[in-house]
Amino acid sequence: MFSFSERLQKLPPYLFVELDRMKAEVQAKGVDVIDLGVGDPDLPTPSHIVEAAKKALDKPENHHYPSSAGMLSFRQAAANWMKNRFGVELDPQKEVVALIGSKEGIAHFPLAFVNPGDVVLVPTPAYPVYHIGTLFAGGETYYMPLLPENNFLPDLKSIPEDILSRAKILWLNYPNNPTAAVADKNFFAEVIAFAKEHNLIVAHDAAYTELFFDDYVPPSILEVEGAKEVAIEFHSLSKTYCMTGWRIAFAVGNETLVTGLTKVKNNVDSGAFQVVQEAAIAALTGDQQCVADFRNIFKKRRNVLVEGLKKLGFQVEAPKATFYVWARVPEGYTSADFAAKLLKEAGIVVTPGNGFGEPGEGFFRVALTVDEKRLEEAIKRISSLKF
Ligand SMILES: *Cc1c(COP(=O)(O)O)cnc(C)c1O
Repeated sequence: MFSFSERLQKLPPYLFVELDRMKAEVQAKGVDVIDLGVGDPDLPTPSHIVEAAKKALDKPENHHYPSSAGMLSFRQAAANWMKNRFGVELDPQKEVVALIGSKEGIAHFPLAFVNPGDVVLVPTPAYPVYHIGTLFAGGETYYMPLLPENNFLPDLKSIPEDILSRAKILWLNYPNNPTAAVADKNFFAEVIAFAKEHNLIVAHDAAYTELFFDDYVPPSILEVEGAKEVAIEFHSLSKTYCMTGWRIAFAVGNETLVTGLTKVKNNVDSGAFQVVQEAAIAALTGDQQCVADFRNIFKKRRNVLVEGLKKLGFQVEAPKATFYVWARVPEGYTSADFAAKLLKEAGIVVTPGNGFGEPGEGFFRVALTVDEKRLEEAIKRISSLKF
């Protein structure tokens, strides 16, 4: 009787349907499945953050509607954190907005700046929300392939002139999900110059800036001089503080861009629960040792997995950031064949690279969201397979 709107009908097919079905089938047989598919840390939120939430819950003033821009104290904490971490100065009243998770902000942002027929430049393989937000705003997605020969950075010079003349937003995400690639400040500076030349908004998804290893430290795009004229950056507490379930994040940068997003939010939501914002303040202003501890845990897991895969002959590099490993499937397999084989013959879930976009074909993504023992077990199971 009712049919879905055209925008829902245009949603891309969910590529993991078959994998989910196979996983349920394997689990039904009683197999102890090792799930390396989901990008949700297995570790609990640090206790000082949880305690701050408990205290905040007892304050009646937190039981009312929050403001959709976020409490000023939260925006101030976010601005101070940006200053301490990246040396970026921000006005908490005008250049910071609280988000109900960065997915919310990323999905809503195009509603503020994209008109039907406008083009949005979206990397592929990628987090699906850049395209879906574009689709919901009536925009047209132009995909920028992230290829290994370009270190998984988009090749800006290859974007056709007629696309650029209609383009409004350029999305980036570094450190990157799913490729675990990183971008340096020089690349960001090129992007900012390119955006100014072509009148583009730069929207940078910075969800993984705090999960870095060895001697690498990811920059913010706002560290580039003049970036604030064209850029907005999306930060999230989800991965940094193991707070995926809390739904709290913030966007920072150009005042007009932040105001546009805030206007959309004024009209669709009433902001993040103040108890959650108070917990987030505790996270951003408290001892950052917990973040260093998380980095250490993920680094050890990364080493177990990458060294294990290398010994088995896989083509894989140790990522400098994120909790993902992006590796090539063995010769003669597609991403889907390989993921199906690991699941059926070894009870291991990995994500086929093409599920994030066609240039991901030939790769698989492992999420380091189980402990070292389970990763060792996964390597042992893979070693018994024939490819
Ligand atoms: C996890 C993730 C996010 C956001 O998560 P929220 O929980 O909505 O803040 C954003 N971008 C990428 C690429 C992610 O992997």
